[in-house]
Amino acid sequence: MTISTSRVRTRFAPSPTGFIHLGNIRSALYPWAFARANGGVFVLRIEDTDAERSSQEAVDVILEGMHWLGLDPDEGPFYQMQRMDRYKQVLAQMLDEGLAYRCYMSQAELDALRERQTAEKLKPRYDGTWRPESGKALPAVPQSVSPVIRFRSPISGSVAWDDKVKGRIEFSNDELDDLIIARADGTPTYNFCVVVDDIDMAITHVIRGDDHVNNTPRQIHILRALGHEPPVYAHLPTVLNEHGEKMSKRHGAKAVTHYRDEGYLPDAMVNYLSRLGWSHGDDEIFSRDQFVEWFNLDHLGKSAAQFDEAKLRWVGAQHMKLTDDALLAPLVAEQLGRLGHEAVSGQRLANMCGLFKDRCATTVELAQWLDMYFGAVSASEEDLAVHVTAAARPALTALAVRLDGVPSWDAPSIQQAIKATLTEHGMKMPQLAPAVRVLVCARAQTPSIDSVLSLFPRATVVARLRAN
Ligand code: GLU
Repeated sequence: MTISTSRVRTRFAPSPTGFIHLGNIRSALYPWAFARANGGVFVLRIEDTDAERSSQEAVDVILEGMHWLGLDPDEGPFYQMQRMDRYKQVLAQMLDEGLAYRCYMSQAELDALRERQTAEKLKPRYDGTWRPESGKALPAVPQSVSPVIRFRSPISGSVAWDDKVKGRIEFSNDELDDLIIARADGTPTYNFCVVVDDIDMAITHVIRGDDHVNNTPRQIHILRALGHEPPVYAHLPTVLNEHGEKMSKRHGAKAVTHYRDEGYLPDAMVNYLSRLGWSHGDDEIFSRDQFVEWFNLDHLGKSAAQFDEAKLRWVGAQHMKLTDDALLAPLVAEQLGRLGHEAVSGQRLANMCGLFKDRCATTVELAQWLDMYFGAVSASEEDLAVHVTAAARPALTALAVRLDGVPSWDAPSIQQAIKATLTEHGMKMPQLAPAVRVLVCARAQTPSIDSVLSLFPRATVVARLRAN
């Protein structure tokens, strides 16, 4: 086989017929990682020949989703619709070389054949009427029928491959009839285009969903007829949704970009997706680089993986914790921009990220926490009633005065001011801190109050406490 000596080349070949979801994008992640792990090339090919169902919006979601996750292709995107001349050239060559033939069986004849076969309890299949054989006389060409082109599939023997996920798979050739590779209007069909592309793009490893297992024997036959050895195949088990159904748009799967908009870190998503069908021991949380270093086709899972939003959130939260404050800051600034707070940046923002990131699974949640630093807050009536009591009010006013006077505006000075106020009013921390939080942050719970307050401008804290 040539592939073991040549450079690894993988591809992701989505059909833009619906918004790409997490189950689909996993079929991009693995070939991407395999190419990266082996110093290879990752190709993106958009299989858009189903003109009725394909849309530019779906292409955009593919491109944006891949870009967001850092799965940019080395080559492509190539669009099958732009390769029609090439397919027609190969069709002509196959007709010339006797690898394919024109079939003039009309739709009515095909229907009748199918009916007969079904009545006889046979699997419906083309019967080879127009297949040229030496010494066989073909029927007279009917004027009224535009022919399809059929591939001359081997009749006897079998076809097999060692699937990297499923092990050896073998199909008997008598299960495969002569596949239509071009329709009556001349347009090439799906399995044929895939093969021409995989050859032209010199793909060495086909890593794709296992809904394509039944296409593989046909593709191998066409590849071989064209003088090529098949690539390595790895057919990935389905990704199930939370209800155990095949993940699909019809079953409510969300577009990949939905998770970008929810504020998941791309590396968290890559980490989460990587584990949907592949493992490295018990490792759950790892970086993109670590994943690429570990990834190979030997540890792909054989059984269907199930999407689990709670697990995704957990992975998201772990990555928020692990990400440097300075790296989080611009991402959170973008989310704050969506909340109407423009041009937020700098060390103060990074410090805020550091203080709150442990409580968040996404940058959107982090921005929601930080909102109180950049705009007005409004505590709920309930929180005000429960925490800002008549007993707490004098201490709150006194604290405002103290904070206004502390020599430097930092967490230790703020802590001292709070302690002095507690002592003066004979109170304990839990009697005062929630009230301070509700007034300044509009929440009864936050990380350590002195650190939280120190990131506000002093004047804001003083004013919010005075408004009690
Ligand atoms: N276009 C096919 C799909 O979206 C994938 C084809 C392939 O990977 O060979 O299911």
